[in-house]
Amino acid sequence: MNWISVFLSLAAFGATGWLLGRFKDRPVAGAVWGVLLGPIGWVIIVLGPKGRTPCPYCGASLTLRQSRCGACGASMTWVRGKPLGPRRTE
Ligand SMILES: [Zn+2]
Repeated sequence: MNWISVFLSLAAFGATGWLLGRFKDRPVAGAVWGVLLGPIGWVIIVLGPKGRTPCPYCGASLTLRQSRCGACGASMTWVRGKPLGPRRTE
């Protein structure tokens, strides 16, 4: 394999990973995994966590680390990749 076919394979792996990552709202992560690991990276991105999570207040889709819900306006505190739900009175 010469360097051109190596480069084309990596580009194809990355592009496919990017497409798969889009379904998970993680296109960049998908492209990186695709380039690094090829088909194994695709499996990782398909089986991996979604880049979005529902708002604990209204259920609207949130991007990871989004500071405020676009639908209900609630401000979010993120703990280990999950938004904290409504504050309980204790
Ligand atoms: Zn909300």
